[in-house]
Amino acid sequence: MLRFDNPDGGVWKQGFDISYHGNEWDKEPLEVFVVPHSHNDPGWLKTFDDYYRDQTQHILNNMLLHLAQDTRLLRNGQLEMATGGWVMPDEANTHYFALIDQLMEGHQWLEANLGVKPTSGWAVDPFGHSPSMAYFLKRAGLASMLIQRVHYAVKKQFATKKTLEFYWRQNWDPASSSDMMCHMMPFYSYDIPHTCGPDPSICCQFDFHRLPGGRISCPWRIPPQPITDHNIRERSLLLLDQYRKKSRLFRTGVLLVPLGDDFRWAESSEWQNQFNNYQRLFTYLNTHSELHVKAQFGTISDYFRALRNRTARTGINLPVLSGDFFTYADRDDHYWSGYYTSRPFYKRLDRLLESHLRAAEILYSLTLAEMRRAEAGGVSGYRGDFPAGEAYQLLIVARRNLGLFQHHDAVTGTSKDWVVMDYGKRLYHSILALKEVLVNSAHWLILKDKAAYRHEPSSAFLQMDEVQPSQDTLPKKTILTVGRASRMLVVYNPVSQKRSAVVSIYVDSPAVRVVSMETGQPIPAQLSAVWAEPTRMSLKAYKLSFIAEVPPLALVLYHLLHAPDKDDSTQRANYTFLARDWQESQSIDTGPFKASRLQGDEANAPLVLANAHIQTWTSPSSGLLEKMKLAGDGLERHVQVRFFWYGTSPNHDKSGAYLFLPDGEAKPYSASLPPQVRVTRGPVFSEITSCFQHFTHTLRLFHVEGLEGHSVELSNLVDIRSEVNRELVMRLVTDVASGDHFYTDLNGFQIQPRRTLAKLPLQANFYPMTTMAYVQDSNSRLTLLTGQSLGVASLKSGNLEVVLDRRLQQDDNRGLGQGVTDNKLTASCFRLLLERRRRQEKEVALVSYPSLISHASSLHLLQPLLSMAVNPASSAASLPLLPSYQPIRKALPCDLHLLNLRTIQNKEGAGPSDQSALILHRKGFDCDVLNTPAHLHCGTTHGELDLDNMFTSLSVHNLQRVTLTLMHPENESGNDAGDSDSRSHHVKLEPMEVRTIQVQIG
Ligand SMILES: [Zn+2]
Repeated sequence: MLRFDNPDGGVWKQGFDISYHGNEWDKEPLEVFVVPHSHNDPGWLKTFDDYYRDQTQHILNNMLLHLAQDTRLLRNGQLEMATGGWVMPDEANTHYFALIDQLMEGHQWLEANLGVKPTSGWAVDPFGHSPSMAYFLKRAGLASMLIQRVHYAVKKQFATKKTLEFYWRQNWDPASSSDMMCHMMPFYSYDIPHTCGPDPSICCQFDFHRLPGGRISCPWRIPPQPITDHNIRERSLLLLDQYRKKSRLFRTGVLLVPLGDDFRWAESSEWQNQFNNYQRLFTYLNTHSELHVKAQFGTISDYFRALRNRTARTGINLPVLSGDFFTYADRDDHYWSGYYTSRPFYKRLDRLLESHLRAAEILYSLTLAEMRRAEAGGVSGYRGDFPAGEAYQLLIVARRNLGLFQHHDAVTGTSKDWVVMDYGKRLYHSILALKEVLVNSAHWLILKDKAAYRHEPSSAFLQMDEVQPSQDTLPKKTILTVGRASRMLVVYNPVSQKRSAVVSIYVDSPAVRVVSMETGQPIPAQLSAVWAEPTRMSLKAYKLSFIAEVPPLALVLYHLLHAPDKDDSTQRANYTFLARDWQESQSIDTGPFKASRLQGDEANAPLVLANAHIQTWTSPSSGLLEKMKLAGDGLERHVQVRFFWYGTSPNHDKSGAYLFLPDGEAKPYSASLPPQVRVTRGPVFSEITSCFQHFTHTLRLFHVEGLEGHSVELSNLVDIRSEVNRELVMRLVTDVASGDHFYTDLNGFQIQPRRTLAKLPLQANFYPMTTMAYVQDSNSRLTLLTGQSLGVASLKSGNLEVVLDRRLQQDDNRGLGQGVTDNKLTASCFRLLLERRRRQEKEVALVSYPSLISHASSLHLLQPLLSMAVNPASSAASLPLLPSYQPIRKALPCDLHLLNLRTIQNKEGAGPSDQSALILHRKGFDCDVLNTPAHLHCGTTHGELDLDNMFTSLSVHNLQRVTLTLMHPENESGNDAGDSDSRSHHVKLEPMEVRTIQVQIG
């Protein structure tokens, strides 16, 4: 283990003196590749469009002008598209659905428009690096990759051990099939002063864009000199000395020297100055054979190719490493753990767009497949006037806006206020567009007579139940009017396993019941109040909740009916208020609901909620959780929910959008008034809501026999707009004996074991939590599942704490030039899952997995059931409907997740093709976590799936095994040995494998 220190390393401040003898290259020459690059953030200080107008278009135009007079740049290998994703994504807050989607969108665009397939990855600016990226790039068929922002002490250690170039292996992959060749840049930055060698004052002299008289200069006050006959020898040897020193940090004599910076190569003079001066230097170096150097311009793939050749020829081995590179620090104790939470409103909106995009892609693909099936069977007029082309354009725009938001200044929350708003508008409009695709597809699929489909954009047949009024406000439920006539509700299950889960809608009358269209039977439901204020209910709306049973990927229809007086299928919730110190005169209006106020001894007893699986105890004074118990097995744990504030450091350097620099440990949240606590009890769910000044916290327990009953829902509405330099934290204080170990996910794809280290500053012990974090001891595991990315830590044994929002008045000196003060009313939602473990291991494993129930519970948060109501004003409202649409014959195995079913763009034109990308993920899971219930409605099959038997009436044709992003046919001899018959519709996935299969469904 490394010490936490920061000694002055001389010219290489964070490193050490590098020396050489001079004869190291006598046998094998130093082979230098100078790789010009430009780093164009698609939105940071300016919006994407403004950057394009002011800089990016000039870079591209000058590139065409200076690299060649024709467009064979790519074929000649002069220009390379590295990585080729839609953006260079953040690797901490991003979910793997979006990471893969933006990679596929980029690769598809490149193939269609430029005819190129990327072979090397390039990620110089994400704030820390995730092995998930290495895996996805490998699966996409890329051969090598480069990373840059890694903790300075790790870089120094890697430089010392010469492990800056390594094979990156997934810690769950003993078979090594995932190994990815990776180059880690050794120095502080990707700019030119930090890429030619260890001394920035010298490297800066070889940035000929900083020649005297230009707009930028060298901060080390030694300017570059134009290369002349007079100075060429001295300049060449000075540069070679840097190259040689840098080369000593690597195992081979092949050296990578990036040459670029943010928005570089925009001016014609820059191209001329860099090119002409470097050509003179290269000519000098290359013609003096006694120097044993060959220097040239090249691409990143040229470099990796030479590196491979050299290692093969010399037998030099690169080491194999596993793990991730979080949490990043670039200097001192400046840990970049603030951005795990910055702008949490948009981190939540990102997940909403993801869930809508995935749901819409799948439903749209199924719709087109049903049309093809019918037409192949000779049915005509089957499409109605379904707007397939129009809907496809909406999908493409949404894919690209989701892709854009994965950029390392977008989902990270590290751009200017107005850039955040620009992203927000894109996310908001994309969600609106996807709702259109969803309701149109669902409409078509549930129509009995498909030919009767009419596309009426102004009066859509179906309306999504939730509406977000603007980009910076939370979604609201639509209030459905239920008169004497029936109102139809369509519920869509976007996952490939059966769901029984609670659906809640708002209705305008307390006399409503729910009837299954399939059986005609009433469904037990709960009517609850909608609260306008903590003690004042809305008189316009009621919340109607029922348990919907929806087969995989299915649409199921329900009637909402006016309930006659004697009907008791819908039961009203009752309410209890605890407000001991509130004025007695304060009245509580509970309308048609029974309510009581606890007083005396009763008000001092813990509040108990229970369903068939869990019992919870909460404090009567705060309404916050104290204890949990598993009903079946008796496992009991203290689990206290508490809130805390962090302030920011009193020193010169303070917290900002990137950095978390707290003023010591968090201080307990103390309220000036005790919270208003409201207890709701009913047959479908019960909840306890605590209204504090800065947040409203709700604990909810679902009375569901199935999966949803196994976890407790925790949600917060946070508003810290009145605060100055404060961050609000929700902490779970538990008696799980976890010591200094805890677990966080990476990109929702894999689990990374963590250790809280006392030697490190507090902010270094925070990690990104994309979908979950857990603590465990020998017999229990407590998992906090999250519906949005946030920063998480376990600073004491048994604790887990999540930063909910941060309001920071100042810039933190990483170029953004502002604080974070655009806070909004922000929602965060979680589920808390207590599980029994049977393993009694002594040692902490290097790899860990969630249980199957944890995976499925996470999907409840991330891919909820979607409900849509039939619009009574639509002219089609009277057309006959099917009671359900059920495309899948049998649920997919529990551990197989349909990541996407994505319609591929037509090669000619912009419309949809008849091909889809079926993306499957076999999740790794922990078998030692015991309470896996029968309610999962699925089994496991060792990763096997028979596509011929997957669908009810659709069939799969023209199956092609391809790389992750459809760039290449999959190499059958690879990790696919058990699956040799390429014509078979039988697929088998290894644990953790993500695989794309190109199919025609119809
Ligand atoms: Zn950047």
